[in-house]
Amino acid sequence: MTTVHSSLETWAASRIAMDEIARWRPDGRDFLDPVALRGALAAAAARPAPDGAEVRDILSRSRAVQTLEPSQLARLIQVTDPDLLAEMKAAAGEIKRKVYDNRIVTFAPLYIGNRCVNDCLYCGLRSGNDRMVRHVLTDNELRREVEVLAGVIGHKRLIVVFGEHPSTDVDFMVRAMRTIYSVRVPARVGVGQIRRVNVNAPPLRTDELRQLKEAGLGTYQVFQETYDPDTYRQVHPSVYKANYSWRLYAMHRAMEAGIDDVGIGALFGLADWRFEVMGLLAHAIELERQFGIGPHTISFPRLEPADNAPYVQQTRWTVSDDDLERIVVLLRLAVPYTGMILTAREGPEMRRRLLDCGITQTDASSRIAVGGYSAEMVSGGQNVQRQQFVLGDTRSLDDLVRELAGRGLIVSFCTAGYRCGRTGECIMDLLRSGMEGRFCKLNAVLTYREWLDDFATEETRQAAEPVLRAEIDEIQRQMPRFFPRFQEAYERTAQGARDLYF
Ligand code: SF4
Repeated sequence: MTTVHSSLETWAASRIAMDEIARWRPDGRDFLDPVALRGALAAAAARPAPDGAEVRDILSRSRAVQTLEPSQLARLIQVTDPDLLAEMKAAAGEIKRKVYDNRIVTFAPLYIGNRCVNDCLYCGLRSGNDRMVRHVLTDNELRREVEVLAGVIGHKRLIVVFGEHPSTDVDFMVRAMRTIYSVRVPARVGVGQIRRVNVNAPPLRTDELRQLKEAGLGTYQVFQETYDPDTYRQVHPSVYKANYSWRLYAMHRAMEAGIDDVGIGALFGLADWRFEVMGLLAHAIELERQFGIGPHTISFPRLEPADNAPYVQQTRWTVSDDDLERIVVLLRLAVPYTGMILTAREGPEMRRRLLDCGITQTDASSRIAVGGYSAEMVSGGQNVQRQQFVLGDTRSLDDLVRELAGRGLIVSFCTAGYRCGRTGECIMDLLRSGMEGRFCKLNAVLTYREWLDDFATEETRQAAEPVLRAEIDEIQRQMPRFFPRFQEAYERTAQGARDLYF
């Protein structure tokens, strides 16, 4: 057993290409300087708490969709006055609406396997958890999962999750992506299909990332877990994942490989959340500085109970609900153009609360046990011996769409941006100017119509029609000259045409 385990670690460690890190660290130091970030936090804490004038001055920069300076974020972290916190939350919601309008993009996670060579102390999939039932989907099993996701639930975009293991290497990833894109399932009117495959994977080499791009990758997601190097080493005892810098430059390699949609994140609860928020901002600033493109999305998962994962009980950095709300608001204000992903890790109440703070994407009908969409699950859609952690919200996509419609929010199934080149620098300009919201509104309405006709229950359809009507009226008001072209596409969609987009 030990021999097998150490040979897997050797395999993983051999994958690290030191030259692909070194060129980003000419002086041997990472761009992320923990001493400087701690210094900024300490300097901000040493001054009297920010007053209304100072907070509003910083908010004016966020409202102009400009990334904050670390010193400005450090000052906002010091705010505890309830009125000022409420002002910040209102500004976060306002900025979200300015950049992304009243849309929420939806997706589903798809775990392809639960084998992993690493032993992260907070994760149910860690190699040391001998209670986990390990499996990697076969091609046929994968097809069945996608048939449920695309043909029964109606999802159009997935985040496909791969562990770090030779059985799910880059060739396997490419084959899995091609399989997912190939599935077509008849729906009530049109056809169910996945149109965008995002990937959450271990840090890869540049040549491997090029292969993912060629296979039709949407967003490449790697979370640093924690930006604090000491905690990082403590919770990642395996040889491979212990290399902090290999992970830190994963997105540099992705950009070099031509992938300009990247998603960063931190697992909140491993270290002080204030430091993690500063780390995420530093990461965004570095990507902007090196490539002119910041992160397409930021994720802020919170540590959740997981089977046989000791660090979840041991951590002294557990994040309260109030602090999670502050984290989301601060990130929205610090990196105002970015997409922000709220997942079903959180329970329904917390998801309702955070939606107003600047969230742009969320999942629904989620299953994270391997094979969970097509299998009978043990309890409430979960099987802890097959999944990474315990989900807080297993409500259906139909429930989510109906609930959001009640709040005047439209769920977007749009996948057009990446397919017609609105990514990278182009999308940065569109987001900062508020123009991306216009394109997306058109495509959100068309895909909402599709999903309502193909998959919604009657109750949900009735709840959604007034939202749809209001959106169409707004398009007519905002874009009168373009409106006839949109109307034609809308009518064709209502009559059964599919996948029309601008
Ligand atoms: S967090 Fe990721 S790398 Fe670590 S054990 Fe879990 S699946 Fe493997």
